[in-house]
Amino acid sequence: MSKKVRVRFAPSPTGPLHIGGVRTALYNYLFAKQNNGDFILRIEDTDQKRYVEGAEKYIIDALNWCGIPFDEGPGKESGHGPYRQSERKLLYKKYADQLISGGKAYYAFDTPESLDFHRKDHESKGKTFIYNWHNRLKLDNSLSLSPDELQTRLAKEEKFVIRFYNPQDEVLHLNDIIRGAIQIDTNILDDKVLFKSDGMPTYHLANIVDDHLMEISHVIRGEEWLPSLALHTQLYEAFGWEAPKFAHLPLIMKPEGKGKLSKRDGEKGGFPIFPLSWGDSVGYKEAGYFPESVLNFLALLGWNPGTEQELFELNELIKAFDLSRVHKSGARFDPEKTKWYNHHYLQEQDDAVLLNSFKPILAKKLSHELAFDLNLAENDDYISRVISLIKERASFVLDFWELGAYFFHTPNSYNEKVVKKQWKENTPNILDQIASLLESLDDFSSSKLEDVIKKWIGEEGLTFGQVMAPLRLVMVGDLKGPHLFDIMALVGKKETLKRIRIALEKL
Ligand code: GLU
Repeated sequence: MSKKVRVRFAPSPTGPLHIGGVRTALYNYLFAKQNNGDFILRIEDTDQKRYVEGAEKYIIDALNWCGIPFDEGPGKESGHGPYRQSERKLLYKKYADQLISGGKAYYAFDTPESLDFHRKDHESKGKTFIYNWHNRLKLDNSLSLSPDELQTRLAKEEKFVIRFYNPQDEVLHLNDIIRGAIQIDTNILDDKVLFKSDGMPTYHLANIVDDHLMEISHVIRGEEWLPSLALHTQLYEAFGWEAPKFAHLPLIMKPEGKGKLSKRDGEKGGFPIFPLSWGDSVGYKEAGYFPESVLNFLALLGWNPGTEQELFELNELIKAFDLSRVHKSGARFDPEKTKWYNHHYLQEQDDAVLLNSFKPILAKKLSHELAFDLNLAENDDYISRVISLIKERASFVLDFWELGAYFFHTPNSYNEKVVKKQWKENTPNILDQIASLLESLDDFSSSKLEDVIKKWIGEEGLTFGQVMAPLRLVMVGDLKGPHLFDIMALVGKKETLKRIRIALEKL
């Protein structure tokens, strides 16, 4: 029987989650759910210098808002915890010791100053300093010291780090679900530090030990970790543990296509980079995106279903997602496409959701002076009807006001270009007659209005444009908006007549 699928998202709490991190979490989530597996959140906080207060909460809130909550993690213990590496710190040392006794790792006493000296010295010669087989016997470590010297220095409690012992002249055969077979010559590898002089493991050691202890079956993470695959694979071998399968996800690229998408790109292009607001940076949530849109566009940044389908709700993604169809090359971020998705999901939202999100915006925008009927403006049924007329043109709930202010305010200005073009000599006369016609109506429904006005246009031998354009201008202040008779019916007879009257006075 194959192992139960268990995947983890393992962010370091060094700040808000970048949208690329959310995609990593999403792919892990999709893979877990389609295999009836577990999705685990592990907080990799071994680097205390980079720890940022509030970042862990942010990560959890972001996953919850997106609708991809973890099954196990901080606060959701289930036998594999704790899930913060800082709370596991005592358990790593014995694994480092195990590697030392097996000859797979060694003590190194080199001071930061001496390493710095070597680095600079190499740089000045146009070379890069690598700590490995070619120089380790000349450096200050347990391989170059005699056993006695080593014991003395350990007994004196001199500061040391523990480094991995990379073999010389070997070819490693690595495997990645997305990239296939990869061969690496061990001679180019660094003897990476596994355990630091402050008593904490490095990312590499803690990551491998935890993935093993947490019984992780698949490691799905960003491409920036691909260079660590050689070390990680060797560590599993050194411990004699079965390695998980690896999948390294492509980068998310700038809209222009070259380079990794950064916070600055978002600032420049006016689009969010974080799921939720963080400091001055507005998040997707606060910018008015629905979680469905964010998940949908992220899913397709780096993966495609092999069909033309672009719209996927979460349950469809769980079925369709295929790790082996994730692209090798970077995925270009397209801010316009994210709006397109939001437009789609806005049309799909429940009326009640739209109403509740719009009401606070409306309350802020509404002017008591311009409002023609405050009771209507606060009436849920009326607001919902307005939304249903204008939402087709909206990508965000925030657009509703822009698109439909005239359903709440009597227009107090008119688009001048339109006035110039549409307000003819006989317009006042036409509108006067329309007003009398409307005055006589008891049934002010959209269909009745349409019947009566069209019939009248025919009888008078007028063109449609001669009547409808000025009438729209009067009702909306512009030539925009949904079906004109729907607008008139919704604001009602009294307000329609008032708008005609005001326009006749003003124009
Ligand atoms: N802590 C690493 C990060 O911040 C995790 C990398 C991994 O998934 O192995 O991305």
